[in-house]
Amino acid sequence: MTVLPGATREEILQVVRTLGQPDYRAQQIAEWVYRKGARLYDEMTNLPLSLRQALPELLPLRRLEVVRAQRSADGTVKYLFALADGERVEAVFLPYDDRTSVCISSQVGCAAGCRFCATAQMGFTRNLTAGEMVDEVLSIQQMSGQRISHVVYMGMGEPLWNLQEVIKSVLLLNREVGISQRHITVSTVGVVPAIYELAQHRLQITLAISLHAPSDDLRARIMPVGRKWKVQELIDAARHYTEVTGRKVTFEYLLLRGVNDEPHHAHALARLVKGLVCNVNLIPFNQVETPDGFTRPEPSRVARFRRVLEEAGITVTQRVEKGHDISAACGQLKLETARARA
Ligand code: SAH
Repeated sequence: MTVLPGATREEILQVVRTLGQPDYRAQQIAEWVYRKGARLYDEMTNLPLSLRQALPELLPLRRLEVVRAQRSADGTVKYLFALADGERVEAVFLPYDDRTSVCISSQVGCAAGCRFCATAQMGFTRNLTAGEMVDEVLSIQQMSGQRISHVVYMGMGEPLWNLQEVIKSVLLLNREVGISQRHITVSTVGVVPAIYELAQHRLQITLAISLHAPSDDLRARIMPVGRKWKVQELIDAARHYTEVTGRKVTFEYLLLRGVNDEPHHAHALARLVKGLVCNVNLIPFNQVETPDGFTRPEPSRVARFRRVLEEAGITVTQRVEKGHDISAACGQLKLETARARA
């Protein structure tokens, strides 16, 4: 069944027509939900009462509930949301000087099992629907009182294992919520066939690929998906993506002290991505408890790694890290309250 948020303009229109209402009602309903963040049909005061009463049955309006909000000293806010079936996901509000960004989850848990990631330890429960993903943004936009300009799919879950709903959510965020596709980033663990499939849609979003290691052995050691797809296959998929979409790709490279942060790793990485329309985003490990006891490299090691890449002519960015004091940084989303309840 179609629900709101989640329904496209066409789907809303069908319901409106079923109810014998003029087409412009679809526009009104879409605006209430996607622009004004209405939580109830009763708020939609420009709709006739009879319509407000008939809509819930054909097009249920279900919003996420906020279970908890944790505020960081730097303005970052981490939200824990309850979904309609009681499952929970986290999303993060990130205010910067020049933009306001939201980091959203695409699944409850994750099946990728990356050795350094807190979400991995939960295992996988289910995919989020497009509507649930859009609602993470809508709810945070409302609670922060600020217009959200950027969205990153870098919370819990692997977006490319939920590709159809992720694409639908991107289109809703773009067409209905009004967020530019160029301000939307989808981050993937590197699901090679899904990268080819996504390319066919020719969206103008940024694709970020979690590479994290320049060789198959090392990548497989820290990311189980590395056993399925070779680094070179991933690079080829990235090249295809840039050629088809005309967009630059981002390679994310998580730095683990003494594991993948030596100069020879940087040289190998530079050779791999040379010639691709891309940039490399360095992410020093955010400390979470892991079985392998990974640690975060000190700034001098990060700088050394960065220098090798830059000298090889690679464009390097480094993530502005926020929300450390509330465990809201990359890879730290893990539903602590779920544990506390259990
Ligand atoms: N599944 C997707 C998106 C979610 S993870 C992906 O793998 O890309 C978002 C980013 O955070 C990924 O680059 C991921 O590797 C990284 N990450 C995971 N755990 C981390 C940690 N402890 N410290 C820093 N980054 C981490």
